Amino acid sequence: MSLLHGISASNGIAIAKAYRFVEPDLSFSKKTVEDIPEEIARFHSALSISKSELEVIRDTAEKELGTDEAAIFNAHILVLIDPELVTAIGDKIKSDKVNAEYALKETTDMFIMMFEQMDNEYMRERAADIRDVTKRVLSHLLNVEIINPSMITEEVVIIAEDLTPSDTAQLNRKFVKGFTTNIGGKTSHSAIMARTLEIPAVVGTKEATKCIKDGDIVIVDGFNGQVHINPTSEVIATYENEQVKFEQQKAEWAKLVNEKTTTADKHHVELAANIGTPEDLEGVINNGGEGIGLYRTEFLYMGRNQLPTEEEQFEAYKKVLQGMSDKPVVVRTLDVGGDKELPYLNLPKEMNPFLGLRAIRLCLQEQAIFRTQLRALLRASVFGNLKIMFPMIATLDEFRQAKAVLEEEKQELLNNNINVANTIEVGIMVEIPSTAILADQFAKEVDFFSIGTNDLIQYTMAADRMNEHVAYLYQPYNPAILRLVKMVIDAAHNEGKWTGMCGEMAGDEIAIPLLLGLGLDEFSMSATSILKARAQLLQLKKSDMVELANEALQMATADEVVRAVKARSNL
Ligand code: PEP
Ligand code: MG
Repeated sequence: MSLLHGISASNGIAIAKAYRFVEPDLSFSKKTVEDIPEEIARFHSALSISKSELEVIRDTAEKELGTDEAAIFNAHILVLIDPELVTAIGDKIKSDKVNAEYALKETTDMFIMMFEQMDNEYMRERAADIRDVTKRVLSHLLNVEIINPSMITEEVVIIAEDLTPSDTAQLNRKFVKGFTTNIGGKTSHSAIMARTLEIPAVVGTKEATKCIKDGDIVIVDGFNGQVHINPTSEVIATYENEQVKFEQQKAEWAKLVNEKTTTADKHHVELAANIGTPEDLEGVINNGGEGIGLYRTEFLYMGRNQLPTEEEQFEAYKKVLQGMSDKPVVVRTLDVGGDKELPYLNLPKEMNPFLGLRAIRLCLQEQAIFRTQLRALLRASVFGNLKIMFPMIATLDEFRQAKAVLEEEKQELLNNNINVANTIEVGIMVEIPSTAILADQFAKEVDFFSIGTNDLIQYTMAADRMNEHVAYLYQPYNPAILRLVKMVIDAAHNEGKWTGMCGEMAGDEIAIPLLLGLGLDEFSMSATSILKARAQLLQLKKSDMVELANEALQMATADEVVRAVKARSNL
């Protein structure tokens, strides 16, 4: 048995067989072949295995996920049997006397380039299909297995170098009991999604993929950031006991689902949820969310080959607004960039994606994308209590520009007799230090703030949120962060506005007493953290926490703050 240490990303215990999710090595070299018919036969055999495999995947996807999700695999099969492509590859093997791998790659690269340059969106999507199919056929030529997480049909723990947010979104909760990755931090988006999906996870173990083989028995201890490999039966029994205790604890918290969040001295705060898709709504309702404090709309744009249409977006926003009745729903406009990529936008690679063309910066530059989203939001606004929030605002000018585009789209809709809600609050995420420092000026123009501590901490401490080597600098309790948070809350209150927090800090049990003391109005977190936070807040007195927060603001280190919180708030 051995033990790996990492960063606890999502609470809970998972015990299951390991399933390695590792990018296959599809490298090969160019070779001259003598026996041309045999090489062509080898190519056709790889094609036919790929086709049977895709048919199975398509049928499983149709059963498990529905016809829409399965359609992509039909498109892949069409590429595989496309006579023009198949003939061109065969001809290349014949004329150049080259191996099938080389002929395949050269030919498909040429087709991909051709499709990518076309004006027509539909044709550009075909490039992505050809790329996927090439990978599959190559894997069969090279006898290398390619993995497909949607095909998992037994309980497993996923072992990966990293999981992108769209990999995580595709994990089937029924079978994926937990995951562990080599890289990543507490606020990387795969960690955030694991909390939403209630999948226990440990990230940043540095060498999980090196130490764990397929089929090893693995325990993911999401509470303590530990991963046990092939544990003894005693260790398994201890963890099974922990699992039972956690379930009992959750049953206790569940009793608070219909309660208001009121502190021991009768002060009300709002406990809202962060969601990524309309499917997350069920979790919000089941966990007693009082609103949606952050709808990360970028997930609507991910795991696909083209931008979502205005109609698709409208339906998603309407569903969320209606699902929450008249409760507030803060929808954040597109925040891609950083660890959330959209390959089909073909944006140039950046040296520092977290400091690059991200979120509102991209939207102001690519206004057609932005305007489509705003129109969908404005049209959906009549179905509930919508608030619109712009991400990554660094200057007032950016906010003014974004607001002006929103106003233009609103006028255009009204001119066309399309209904839009009368009052839609428009706010910003405060996640860049310049904005926190200038919050008094912003507060005059915005309707609300929501503090995005995942980014605010990474930018204040200059520590990449994805990099496990500097994870120690993710310090939500550092007095420097607390002072910034205070500046934002005070600035809003001076102008009669409200401040929420939708970074992971809002659901953190050490931070909650401090944030209550600093006067935060709305706490938005993974739905699965809400009931625990409510249980905690019911026990706290705001007046005591104001004193605690004032003391913390004068302290020198995060450790000192943690000690003070523990001493004063029963933790
Ligand atoms: C944040 O930065 O705190 C935030 C909530 O946004 P995201 O995690 O999506 O960057
Ligand atoms: Mg952010």
